[in-house]
Amino acid sequence: MKNLTIVVMIICVLFFLLLIGVEKPEPAEVFFTSDISPEGVLKVFEKISAEVTGKVAIKVHFGEEGNETYLKPELVKDLVLKLDATLVETNVLYVGKRRYTDSHIKLAIDHGFDFAPIDILDSEGEKVIPVNLNHYHEIKVGSHMDDYDSFIIFSHFKGHGLSGFGGAIKNTSMGLASIAGKMALHASTIPVYNPDACILCGICVDQCPGNAISLNPLVIDPDKCIGCGTCIGICPVRAFGVPWNSTSRSVFLERLVEYAKGVSDNYNTVYINVLANITTHCDCSSRSRPPFMEDICILASTDIVAIEKASHDLVDKHYKSDDTFLQVNSVSGKNQIEYASKINLGNKSYRLIDLDE
Ligand code: SF4
Ligand code: SF4
Repeated sequence: MKNLTIVVMIICVLFFLLLIGVEKPEPAEVFFTSDISPEGVLKVFEKISAEVTGKVAIKVHFGEEGNETYLKPELVKDLVLKLDATLVETNVLYVGKRRYTDSHIKLAIDHGFDFAPIDILDSEGEKVIPVNLNHYHEIKVGSHMDDYDSFIIFSHFKGHGLSGFGGAIKNTSMGLASIAGKMALHASTIPVYNPDACILCGICVDQCPGNAISLNPLVIDPDKCIGCGTCIGICPVRAFGVPWNSTSRSVFLERLVEYAKGVSDNYNTVYINVLANITTHCDCSSRSRPPFMEDICILASTDIVAIEKASHDLVDKHYKSDDTFLQVNSVSGKNQIEYASKINLGNKSYRLIDLDE
């Protein structure tokens, strides 16, 4: 009888421990307003403001030249001025005005971002951060990242040709990666190249940090190339290109998520997503496409996975679809959210708190 009592007690204790072990974490809070205006931005920000301290950077997207659907500066201006914040971005991988710091800043000012300091975070190089993730042992971000205490990731939630959708995860990962980081995200790091286009000017040979390029004919030594992407930007006849398709879509999505985790594990980040001007493709496209659905809201959260899940759910609800971006864009980005949850980037369980009520 005594033995039976002990066995029952042990079973009860194990059951109790099991209950504690499987207890689900509290849902993350995501704050909602349908007021898509500077006042709406301030309203949702207020709810996450306790996490934002010290010198503040606001990561925006200045919009590609010719693009008309990027988030307009007026929307974020009051928040920037209230926090005395700096607008931050990184240079992009492909050729264009956003490839180089001077022309990038000029384009930003031409697009109306002229009310605050602008910092191109990788204008003076990159910072390599060790990580322990499935695809990466290090991530590469702009070297100016360490100049700030808090980052507000201010994202336009819309479709994207490669990743299904682009929101906070993409803005944190690709948006803060250095050129070499972007190469590591996109590809197996070695640019594609066209020897027939080369005019033998020699610029790439002089500037290649890996001493990987030889000419006549143009060849990249894969054992020396470090994937920095310099040659892509400097060649006057665009003989180099990004090997966009060298990585499978699912791996690309996982890489995006891992870069975002590397950033959020090392920097203080909060998130604002704007669900307006929802297009099939991103603001990097110089040819704007019209929004395919109505504007919805602004969301804010301290949890990057919760805000992405809430954003996608709201788009699906309004568009009456199980997977809107798969339907309109032939690319699902939902694995971003699933993989992000799997590697504990954040919590996909969320509670939507309507600030309009
Ligand atoms: S920069 Fe371009 S054109 Fe000049 S040598 Fe290199 S590949 Fe050829
Ligand atoms: S990517 Fe960088 S290291 Fe590789 S060939 Fe181009 S300039 Fe050289």
